[in-house]
Amino acid sequence: MPELPEVETTRRGLAPRLMGTRITGVRVREPRLRWPVTPELAEALTGTRVLRLERRGKYLLVGCDRGTLIVHLGMSGSLRLLQEEAPPTAHEHVDFTLENGWIVRLRDPRRFSALLWEPKEPSRHPLLARLGPEPLDRAFNADWLYRQTRRRRASIKQALMDGRLVAGIGNIYANEALFHAGIRPSTPAKRLSRVRCARLAVAIKKTLQLAIRAGGSSLRDYVGSNGELGYFQSKLWVYNRAGMPCRACGTPIRERRLGQRSSFYCPLCQC
Ligand SMILES: [Zn+2]
Repeated sequence: MPELPEVETTRRGLAPRLMGTRITGVRVREPRLRWPVTPELAEALTGTRVLRLERRGKYLLVGCDRGTLIVHLGMSGSLRLLQEEAPPTAHEHVDFTLENGWIVRLRDPRRFSALLWEPKEPSRHPLLARLGPEPLDRAFNADWLYRQTRRRRASIKQALMDGRLVAGIGNIYANEALFHAGIRPSTPAKRLSRVRCARLAVAIKKTLQLAIRAGGSSLRDYVGSNGELGYFQSKLWVYNRAGMPCRACGTPIRERRLGQRSSFYCPLCQC
């Protein structure tokens, strides 16, 4: 599932081709995504120039001269660049054609992606307005994490996946960051000491930065914007590694369900 590093990798991959160019057309083969792709969206985008390509949490914000296209890749979405028209496969639902000849193509087998047009300030859009700080910004630090977890009875793992606490972290990177911080996923958020909050904030930043550097992880359906598969998966320490030896101490990794999601941890390294 695309999380912050995958979206950031996509943003970086698309930027050189997308910035400054005009969108000449939008071809919608399947409008039934998480919300239906409206004819108004295609109309608003056609002829508009791309001025900015930003990211907020897991949202990609394509800032145009008339408004902003908000993109969320859902469970299995990816955007790729094509140099020329190629026959679409079954899961390739939308094409954005660019003035410079490139095509940006949305692929999404599970169709939980979203394409939304926002003519006004995107940060006020209901999906973005309540998002917490960016994990790589200074505003996200030990103090924030400590203060924001004092009243949370849920596990720290579930708290990290709540976008109001911190934006852009999903199941993969919540598991990975908790491993690097030596914290068990089931620990009640409000029980974390200030020292452990500090360690966790650092672990989150490092884990995300490494993943971005590695080009995002590919689990099932993520394809980088150049069409290549990400390669971070081989570097995962606990995610999806139940029963396999911990890369640090050799103890078998355990799996436990927390709030409907799988959590993976080393019983020796994480307490
Ligand atoms: Zn271990």
